[in-house]
Amino acid sequence: ASEAEEHDVVVIGGGPGGYVAAIKAAQEGLKTACVEKRGTLGGTCLNVGCIPSKSLLNNSHIYHQILHDVENRGIDVGDVKLNLTQMMKAKEQSVSGLTKGIEYLFKKNGVDYVKGTGTIAGEHEIEVNPLDGGEPQTLRARNIIIATGSEATPFPGLEIDEKRIVTSTGAIALTEVPEKMVVIGGGIIGLEMGSVWSRLGSEVTVVEYLGAIGGPGMDAEMAKTMQRILQKQGMKFKLNTKVMGGDVEPNNIKVNVESAEGGKSEAIDADVVLVAIGRRPYTANLGLENVGIEVDERGRIVIDQEYRTKIPHIRVIGDVTFGAMLAHKAEEEGIAAVEYIKKGYGHVNYGAIPSVMYTHPEAAWVGQTEQEVKAAGKAYSLGSFPFSANSRAKTNLDTEGMVKFITDKETDRILGIHIIGPNAGEMIAEGVLAMEYGASSEDIGRTSHEWAVLTLSKAHPTLSEAFKEAAMAAFSKPIHA
Ligand code: FAD
Ligand code: NAD
Repeated sequence: ASEAEEHDVVVIGGGPGGYVAAIKAAQEGLKTACVEKRGTLGGTCLNVGCIPSKSLLNNSHIYHQILHDVENRGIDVGDVKLNLTQMMKAKEQSVSGLTKGIEYLFKKNGVDYVKGTGTIAGEHEIEVNPLDGGEPQTLRARNIIIATGSEATPFPGLEIDEKRIVTSTGAIALTEVPEKMVVIGGGIIGLEMGSVWSRLGSEVTVVEYLGAIGGPGMDAEMAKTMQRILQKQGMKFKLNTKVMGGDVEPNNIKVNVESAEGGKSEAIDADVVLVAIGRRPYTANLGLENVGIEVDERGRIVIDQEYRTKIPHIRVIGDVTFGAMLAHKAEEEGIAAVEYIKKGYGHVNYGAIPSVMYTHPEAAWVGQTEQEVKAAGKAYSLGSFPFSANSRAKTNLDTEGMVKFITDKETDRILGIHIIGPNAGEMIAEGVLAMEYGASSEDIGRTSHEWAVLTLSKAHPTLSEAFKEAAMAAFSKPIHA
């Protein structure tokens, strides 16, 4: 190994958690290196996750809308054809622009970008096997931040080839539109990627073990509404259904399913099967055993509230440890972990981390679901407002969904906000801010939302009016519904 180099912080993994931690550490004046084995920065999110999936979601939505939703708007179009190769190129362009952007930010902030696989060899040592196959290099670090992320959970008996039996990584790179797609798991990946291929022409069947779609964390009422909307768009759902296995034939895959309550079984034909049953922490070749760092029964690296493993100067953030597997959660932890190193304190409000599902309409939420509040035995109030009564949504002919507030019955403090609707992913930011500041629904209901009521008069019409009216519904009455 080459001579050891001393850094204040070495980050292992260059995803949203790791690259943000590295930039923040450098900004704090710490000598910082980031080790990444992929060959590009940005991790799962930029390379094979958030960014490519959102590119395909956006462009497949435009295609679908042109096919099915422009004539009634007074736009006649000629022959509409899908150019999948170009749609994939557009996706690749977004990915490469953004991943190179992180490389630029590393240079700008003085982060050493080390391309290779990092293995913790000792409490202060990381051995790096370079990507280009050269001599291993040893980095010495006062502090180590592990941000090695996650990988798709495999389905036993269905071997992933990323062509016919795919994870999300194969599903963002198919070279033709499958006639029939079976999606195992009706969580966020299943519904986002299922939407993409359904819009592009596949017959998509989602098989979900539980009685509701949306994965953990989605409000039950919202999950039902979303299922109805996606069904109208052509997706099929088999809930309470177990996948038993599959028979891979030369021109067909038979997915064998059985009712979760036992009994009835059937085979569903597919050209492509998407396995989307969750993701698991990724710690291969990380060398945790060399320093005795523990993982729990689900493979998550065990940490305390300050992100420390039992070796206090080795901290862990993002998908590879506890909590929601979301890019912005990993980023917030990256900043907080560096603040602990530099200043001795840091903070992430886990009660105010939003989730967004980028279907059309989008679903977005923050805080608790109604079923969680109910289970906690708390007295609560509800306020909801449908987009069908919102003038901007009506003007846009895009009226599906609603905004729902859940508040503490006694204090009116907001416990959760759930939105299905156009731009829900942007609108939820306002809910996050409200929850961060401990707002009540009345605080929001009495704030001017771009129309003349109670306070200042601003421009109308906007979708955010529905947000305000749902808050009004929680503490008194909305005007327009
Ligand atoms: P990762 O992004 O997984 O990064 C870890 C990095 O570490 C990887 O690049 C890996 O190569 C590297 N690495 C691992 N081990 C080593 C090692 N030993 N040495 C060197 N490098 C190593 N989240 C959202 O918030 N919004 C979305 O819209 C969204 N969409 C998604 C869509 C899909 C299809 C998928 C799969 C995920 C999506 N996510 C989304 C989740 C999001 O991608 C993750 O939560 C996020 O990437 C986690 O960041 P991370 O830094 O913890 O790990
Ligand atoms: P998920 O946990 O959201 O959903 C998995 C679903 O599969 C669940 O509904 C579960 O009940 C079901 N399931 C599990 N085993 C099954 C089985 N054997 N048969 C049938 N159904 C089964 O996981 P995901 O959709 O794979 O996504 C992984 C992670 O990536 C999530 O944590 C998610 O937050 C993140 N992600 C986020 C976004 C976003 O923020 N927009 C997008 C994609 C992925």
